Amino acid sequence: MDAPTQEGKKRYRPDGIYKGPFTGDQSFWEACTCVPACPDPCLGQCGCQACETAHEDTLYFEGANWTSL
Ligand SMILES: [Zn+2]
Ligand SMILES: [Zn+2]
Repeated sequence: MDAPTQEGKKRYRPDGIYKGPFTGDQSFWEACTCVPACPDPCLGQCGCQACETAHEDTLYFEGANWTSL
């Protein structure tokens, strides 16, 4: 896992790490490597694994909620 950037620490407070639903398992954590020029929300198009994973998780969980309705 890369070290989070300063911008990443602003986006995923306090440490710049996106933990998703796996807060207890470090192997799933992703560091946000966004720069201030990134769009907000960033979808990982800058190469940031944290934002890409967060975006995929959002799609996944929204999809799961839809099917359970
Ligand atoms: Zn990011
Ligand atoms: Zn970004």
